[in-house]
Amino acid sequence: MITLKGAEVSGKLKEQVGEYLKGMDGYVPTAAIVRVGQRPDDISYERNVMKKIAAFGMEARSFVFPEAISEEEFCKEFKKINGDDAIDGILLLRPLPKTMDERAFERMIDPRKDLDGISPVNMAGVFAGEEDGFAPCTAEAVIEVLKAYDIEITGKHAVIVGRSMVVGRPLSMLFLKENATVTLCHTRTKDLGKMCREADILVAAAGKAGMLSAEHVAGGAVVIDVGINVDENGRLCGDVKWEGLETAALAATPVPGGVGAVTTAVLCKHLAQAALRRRGYRNTCPSGGRSAIAER
Ligand code: NDP
Repeated sequence: MITLKGAEVSGKLKEQVGEYLKGMDGYVPTAAIVRVGQRPDDISYERNVMKKIAAFGMEARSFVFPEAISEEEFCKEFKKINGDDAIDGILLLRPLPKTMDERAFERMIDPRKDLDGISPVNMAGVFAGEEDGFAPCTAEAVIEVLKAYDIEITGKHAVIVGRSMVVGRPLSMLFLKENATVTLCHTRTKDLGKMCREADILVAAAGKAGMLSAEHVAGGAVVIDVGINVDENGRLCGDVKWEGLETAALAATPVPGGVGAVTTAVLCKHLAQAALRRRGYRNTCPSGGRSAIAER
């Protein structure tokens, strides 16, 4: 079994962003990371994103607001960031406090700056199979992993466990765009095991530690584990148990070290693309090389 390493995919995306930056005559794209409150998950994600954006040669500014800020006040501040010409892309960390109407901010964000594809305009673009918007980063990261390792998607049966608006639903559309046949599973799916065993590409995005295992994988499928969970020993783990996978799967992403690293790299790609598009620079996109898995 081949381990699909997020760092390798991230490295390829970094090269692509480097090419984008070369076409911007020294201009450095800037992202705004917008956080309300002090949720440890948000703080840690923000730190990762800031580091990644810097490593990709771009800038990030953090905008932090107190948990107790009123919706009206936050709306005013968000509009300022949204309208600031010096900001090329925005990442709004969610969920927002329960007192706020998150959907209102999804509708408000400038679609051209919407790094994580939360705007209904971008979501509509994903569902229409358009090229010029932004898809949610994690959904796109799954496709990037497969492409980076030259894993054929056309004609393959992609089975996704999870139908959220962040991962499962947009990913089903991205798979369709790549000419896969898609099955979307959820808590009401009957005989999940049978569905999973029919997959050529199995994506676990349920957020349930170790809920899938080698017995859900048949015929040398490729397994992409999006889940990020903490196991009973406090360690980070995915939705898929790794034991036994070696013989059942052709390839799989580990957790940690898989899709997570690619998600932030896709965010960086979106930032560079947002700057390119907004500022009218020439669009450059290098082609990727072939990889080990394609030679099998
Ligand atoms: P949600 O909780 O929003 O959605 C989970 C989905 O999984 C739901 O559609 C749910 O079905 C389905 N599901 C849950 N349990 C089962 C089950 N036992 N059988 C079948 N389906 C099930 O989660 P997210 O989509 O936000 O995230 C999913 C996972 O991905 C989490 O672990 C999260 O941490 C991780 N994640 C990772 C990212 C990364 O960068 N790698 C980024 C974003 C998320 P139903 O709709 O019926 O309730």
